[in-house]
Order: sequence, then C-alpha cells, then structure tokens
Amino acid sequence: MKFCSNCGHNELEFKIPDLDNLPRFCCPKCGTIFYSNPKIITGTISYIDNQVLLCKRAIQPRYGLWTLPAGFMENGETIENGAFRETLEETGTEVEIKSLYGIFNIPQISQVYMLFLANLKNLDFKATTESLEVRLFTEQEIPWEDLAFPFVPLTLKNFFKDIDKNDFPLRIETIERPKIKKT
Ligand code: ZN
Repeated sequence: MKFCSNCGHNELEFKIPDLDNLPRFCCPKCGTIFYSNPKIITGTISYIDNQVLLCKRAIQPRYGLWTLPAGFMENGETIENGAFRETLEETGTEVEIKSLYGIFNIPQISQVYMLFLANLKNLDFKATTESLEVRLFTEQEIPWEDLAFPFVPLTLKNFFKDIDKNDFPLRIETIERPKIKKT
C-alpha cells in the first residue's frame, strides 16, 4: 500500500499496532489500520451421472487450461450463492448446490477454496466470456495434463473415488505452493 484510502495521506507505516501481534499498514495521519486477510474462492463440482462439468479458461491466469467453475466470493453473498453465481458466469447453467465437499487451504497465497457438489439440472451449459469451452467429462476423458490449478486434479481424483461408493465426505486439504514474489 502506498497511500491511505481513508484520508489520502501518502506515507503509511508498516508496524504492529497497539494490542495487536502482526504488522499492518497504519496511517499516521488519520489513525486508520489496514487489515489484510485471506480471500475465499467458492465453486462447484457440477455433475450428472458420472460426468463432471469443466471450463476451458478464456482469461488469465492459466488461459486455455481446464478448471472447475470457481471464483472469488463477493461482499454480501453466502458461499453457496457465490458458488452458484460463479458456475452460472463460467458455464451459463443454473446448478442445484448440494453439500460442501472440498476445502483447500493455500496459506502461501492466503487463499481458501470452498467447493460444493452440485447437480446439473439441465444441459444448457455453454461457452461464456470467461470460458472458451464448457463440457462434461467422464473420469477417462479428463485432460489431466491440462488442468489449471492444483485443487482441480485433487478434487477430481477424490470425486471419482467417492462417486463409486456414492459417499462424499467433506475433505480438507492444504496445498503447498511457492510464494508469489511481490514486486
Ligand atoms: Zn489516513
């Protein structure tokens, strides 16, 4: 942070505020403390029979690779609503959100993924401004070498294991990844 979004002062201090234990950006002029906390990404494993809906990304990062529909939660919405909205935005179809299935911590980049199982209610999914292509895949058809993010193969492997037993326990995992250098 370069300046205070509250008063416009352009010399923020990075220090541990009184009664706190982590350094924060603090404005010496107006006293505002800027807290930075993890972001939540919410999405779905939308499926019908033994086929899962994947999207080919039309946006960076990971342009052209396949992913499960998911994105950043917006202020004022629930994770269920966010998962529904992201799935609609990326695949054009309205799914029925079911149980929470996967939680992935990615502490190095301060993100948490929350993925819901969802029923595909109909087959009206289509390419969107965010997806070059949207289609269903069986386990044998999954493009394992062209998946966009580490949470995608982890989720898909769990899913195809669990669908055989028709039992989908909540799985919580931590993904280690290299820290992104800040410039
Ligand atoms: Zn200020």
